[in-house]
Amino acid sequence: MTKILVIEDEESVRENILDLLEAEDFETIAAPNGKIGVSIADNESPDLILCDLMMPEIDGYGVLAQLRENFTTSAIPFIFLTARAAKEDFRQGMELGADDYLTKPFTRTELLTAITTRLQRQAAIINNPISLADVKAYPKEMRIIENTLRRTIEEGKFREFQMYYQPIVDIKSGKMIAVESLVRWWSPKLGLVCPEELIPLAESTGLIIPLSDWILESVCKQTRNWLDNGLDALTSCVNISASQYIQPNFIHKVENLLSTYNLAPHYLELELTETTMMQDINKTIDILKKLKSIGINIAIDDFGTGNSSLIYLKQIPLNTLKIDNYFIHNLPEDNRKLAITKALIEMGHNLDLKVVAEGVENLGELRLLRHLKCDAMQGFLFTEPLPKPDFEQMLVSKQSLNI
Ligand code: C2E
Ligand code: MG
Ligand code: MG
Repeated sequence: MTKILVIEDEESVRENILDLLEAEDFETIAAPNGKIGVSIADNESPDLILCDLMMPEIDGYGVLAQLRENFTTSAIPFIFLTARAAKEDFRQGMELGADDYLTKPFTRTELLTAITTRLQRQAAIINNPISLADVKAYPKEMRIIENTLRRTIEEGKFREFQMYYQPIVDIKSGKMIAVESLVRWWSPKLGLVCPEELIPLAESTGLIIPLSDWILESVCKQTRNWLDNGLDALTSCVNISASQYIQPNFIHKVENLLSTYNLAPHYLELELTETTMMQDINKTIDILKKLKSIGINIAIDDFGTGNSSLIYLKQIPLNTLKIDNYFIHNLPEDNRKLAITKALIEMGHNLDLKVVAEGVENLGELRLLRHLKCDAMQGFLFTEPLPKPDFEQMLVSKQSLNI
């Protein structure tokens, strides 16, 4: 049963909302002020919070700020209830990470629509929402990793995370044109945890937000550092997770980073997987249009493995299409993969996109991609993802691919 916490100081309004929600079979919890609301949210982990903006002592902004700082409550969908509909209030709330606003008095339909939209979106972001029961059924090993990750991030031990760098190379010239930053977690307790384990776990626990904030900042900082040291600046590609880019303040965060590190936007390319983009395609298009208008590059990652509708592909503002490793592996020996890869490259070019082949491991694959006029490659044939000093060595020596 979906549990909703209502934080509202006016008793009559509060009772009214509770009646409405209970009539719709929601489980409800009520808090008469912000302080109690924050503590209930922490103890009871509701699925959604409705919170009045104007309350004595801690107001709605204060409640939201405290919830967003606490890892157990940071990802709970949050809807403001307000008597005012002033633009500044709206903006301030959204920047803090509110998900929606309802202006009082609202109708039953408005309330229920806001709630169901938020819950559906949350379910889409977290493909497998982890309930307490699921967590108990988790293999012990996963719980250990989760607890360790939680503690590491809560204690701000980001030095355990490191970015590795893998160049993307122009197939015609053999020169490096971009670099993808890939996270690694070296846990003193667990050893190396690969991103394929780390990222989904961080996603499902809400820890992805502080982690991906750290990743994005590290990448911007590093790019600035290379520019300052006169190293040939490449476009820095960074993977963006599903719950990260739909944060209401995501665009603001990106703009702040560009300005803090004095980076021209074309130095940054955000990679979103095809699956991530399709979760809420209209919202994706909206957010990516804004990012593109700032001048940031956008890549669709792991293309071919998701379930994108080609109709949308034309509408998503993209610069780059990355063909998934799967199609490239054994490309010369597999006629079906060859047919698909050829079609993907042609389609990418027709849409005016740069096409990058991921996971290129041997010369046979490279030659074929060159023949198919694929623009760029990334893969073990040139190099595996490298720790910073090794990658910088490549940059300094202007290493290129022998074609
Ligand atoms: P991705 O973005 O598609 O990254 C490419 C993956 O392919 C990397 O795996 C890379 O090491 C691997 N790869 C590169 N060349 C070859 C090759 O020639 N052969 C094969 N078999 N593999 C190759 P990695 O680093 O393990 O990352 C896996 C995925 O985890 C990434 O796929 C990305 O979706 C996610 N990820 C990695 N770092 C981050 C991050 O900082 N943030 C987020 N949100 N996701 C990340
Ligand atoms: Mg990627
Ligand atoms: Mg990929």
